[in-house]
Amino acid sequence: MSNHTTTGAGVTLLRLYELQEIDTATARVVARRQALDDGSAARAALDDARARLEAVRAEVAAAASRTRALELEIASLRAKRARVEADMYSGRVGNPKELAAMTDEVAALARHQAQLEDQVLQLMERAEALDEQARAAGAQVRAAEADLARLVAAFEQAVAAADAEIAALEARRRAHAEGIDGDLLRRYDRLRASKGGLAVVAVRGGVCDGCHVVVPERVVSRLERDPEHLVACDGCGRLLVVLPREAR
Ligand SMILES: [Zn+2]
Repeated sequence: MSNHTTTGAGVTLLRLYELQEIDTATARVVARRQALDDGSAARAALDDARARLEAVRAEVAAAASRTRALELEIASLRAKRARVEADMYSGRVGNPKELAAMTDEVAALARHQAQLEDQVLQLMERAEALDEQARAAGAQVRAAEADLARLVAAFEQAVAAADAEIAALEARRRAHAEGIDGDLLRRYDRLRASKGGLAVVAVRGGVCDGCHVVVPERVVSRLERDPEHLVACDGCGRLLVVLPREAR
């Protein structure tokens, strides 16, 4: 099977070459559109910041709840000690042993109360540190929200610009493809799909622009004489075109 084929009239290789330039430009815009930052990373960062804020708020709530429980327990210890002391000083108890036991109980209640008061103080310090952490976490959430909003707005703007560019290129392509033979267009599409987006390549300095294999002189002169002649490169199988002098 020969790579060299000649087909009927209406073939305009140059037009096909220009069509490919439009297709290449479209592919570039499509790739750029696909690579746009849609804010996914910023959205994940915002989720993280919100989770940290929630965790700190949960700790703040737990510390407050623990403080309230301790304060209730302290109040109850204080009331119990007051009852025992009132009993001691009422004169009702004359037994020294019983009085000594009551004195011990008052001392034990006071020790327990002091321990709980220490815990309340520690919790208050912890609450202050947690409030500071909550403020910082809240600021991070607001910053992450602003980042995301900025990125999403930029993304939407870039997508709209790319879509407009693609639509304009597609309109140009339709107009450009109109005069081209259907069989040739299908061959072009197959070649483009299998040859990395390049179906038609120029011969420059006697070599194929696609694979840099030397194109025989007789093929070059045939192409120069007859620009409608269809010939595939021996090296890469792409269609060869000799561009007009001003385009080389
Ligand atoms: Zn080639």
